[in-house]
Amino acid sequence: MNCPTCKTLRLKPIKLDHDLPAEGCEQCQGALVSLLGYRIWLERHPVESQLAADRQSAGRVESEDTGHALICPKCAGLMSKYRIAAETENKIDLCVRCNEVWLDNGEWALIKSLELADKLPRIFYDSWQKQIRHNHSQALREQKFKELLGDDYDEIARIKAWIEGHPQRRTLLDFLNSY
Ligand SMILES: [Zn+2]
Ligand SMILES: [Zn+2]
Repeated sequence: MNCPTCKTLRLKPIKLDHDLPAEGCEQCQGALVSLLGYRIWLERHPVESQLAADRQSAGRVESEDTGHALICPKCAGLMSKYRIAAETENKIDLCVRCNEVWLDNGEWALIKSLELADKLPRIFYDSWQKQIRHNHSQALREQKFKELLGDDYDEIARIKAWIEGHPQRRTLLDFLNSY
């Protein structure tokens, strides 16, 4: 099996983390993880203790991300991209036929820092991807308002938050609309 990004280099068996088996590339440091292997690993390794350690190392994680579509090194089919979380632009690649995941250099560390190390398959759920897109469009809307409102944005955002948490929210909104 060759590396899906470097193409010519052969993948070699590695331990991605805490005995998590993977096929790694020595050049780009990417790794192919079998979801089956991941599940077995997860059952054997209590993640609570790992996450405690990972949280300490959390913070700014350096990672790379392949922009173009990848070919699965096992079946030569096209892999699908899934954004990891709303907090990052990084996407990971899944072959739905082989259930193999390709992680670029640093993406496992990124997944851990986002506390998703024990929830890897969740990234491929429709509901998770939908939530990410929703958060993304909300962020875009907010950015648009910031540009339109300039210096007034902070003040109106403060008032908006105050209204939203107010027990008489409905009446406050009626009052604002009453002109
Ligand atoms: Zn490579
Ligand atoms: Zn495949």
